[in-house]
Amino acid sequence: MTRTTPPRPLDVEAVFPALAAHRRTTTRLHPRHGSPGTQDSSVAGPLLWPADEPWPVCTAVHPKGTGHLISDVRLSRRILEDSRGRERTEEERRLLDGMSEGNHVPELQDDAPLPMLAVAQLYAREIPDLVGPEDHDLLQVFWCPFEEHGNDRTIDVVLKWRRSTDVGVALTPQPEPPVAGREECVPTTCVVHPEQVVEHEYFGLLEEALQDEIDEWEEGLLDEEEEDEVEPPSSASYATYEEYAEAMAVAQAAEPEEINYMSDLSIAPGWKVGGFASWHLTDPAPVDCQVCGVAMPPLLTVDKWECDGASRSWLPIEDRDSGHDPHATNPTEVYLGRGLMRVHTCPTDPTHPHRLSFQ
Ligand SMILES: [Zn+2]
Ligand SMILES: [Zn+2]
Repeated sequence: MTRTTPPRPLDVEAVFPALAAHRRTTTRLHPRHGSPGTQDSSVAGPLLWPADEPWPVCTAVHPKGTGHLISDVRLSRRILEDSRGRERTEEERRLLDGMSEGNHVPELQDDAPLPMLAVAQLYAREIPDLVGPEDHDLLQVFWCPFEEHGNDRTIDVVLKWRRSTDVGVALTPQPEPPVAGREECVPTTCVVHPEQVVEHEYFGLLEEALQDEIDEWEEGLLDEEEEDEVEPPSSASYATYEEYAEAMAVAQAAEPEEINYMSDLSIAPGWKVGGFASWHLTDPAPVDCQVCGVAMPPLLTVDKWECDGASRSWLPIEDRDSGHDPHATNPTEVYLGRGLMRVHTCPTDPTHPHRLSFQ
């Protein structure tokens, strides 16, 4: 099934023509649980990785045998999924109780190379905003599932660009680390449903005059909303609860949807390729290439929520009926930083070292 972002509640460039200069496309990945193959774009699916090429490893020193067994993380997610809406069996409870954080692989030395976790595979033919080195049509993304790298103690990401036609026999089975520092560093396997949408620059990075205009316009909308507010029906004036509920629904439908630049008109939530970076938790920070100094836009955004209360207008039409179903709102079960991690790459030369930013 494809995924379709509803049209934005209004054409923001018609209201603020200056925003046309701050437009960019992004490809929302719309990950959903599934069983991808090596020829598919995916999150945590099998990679088209050459059988004769070494798998990336993390050589940083950290307590590599500790944390959560990846097999436990997968099993517990499967049990929680299978038992949703019913009481868990004794066997399921026993399995869940038996899982814990601990020193699971004591023989794994802290400085021993640890296979990195395959996180995503993205084909340019499916993802129009995926721009890498010339002729390279496939991006493979790995991370070490310990948030203990560098001065900022973060996750460590490895990117591998390749030409898919260069790959003969694919490596199988594919290595993976036995443990993860945190469960939320382990993505659940998902197929993706790429969809290109338009974004506009983060509010705080627009020129001040434009920010003021948008502020004024939003205040105007709020005033209008107050005027339009419909008095909710009182239950006393209805004979039955059903009649009251119906009147309530009619009143709510008449209520104008609140429109907000930040939530509805600028940056899409969820896993995506390209587009703009949101700086809703910290002040905007420059992310410049350490080799050539140019500003690096985000290539890949890894977000805890595909959609939350504030970004509800971005919920795909196909998922409308599933409401707050975690399959649609948090399919990958990944939570990095304070919810969001971005990999930025150099627009001049995508082989220059990438950088990460967090929100
Ligand atoms: Zn590591
Ligand atoms: Zn550069």
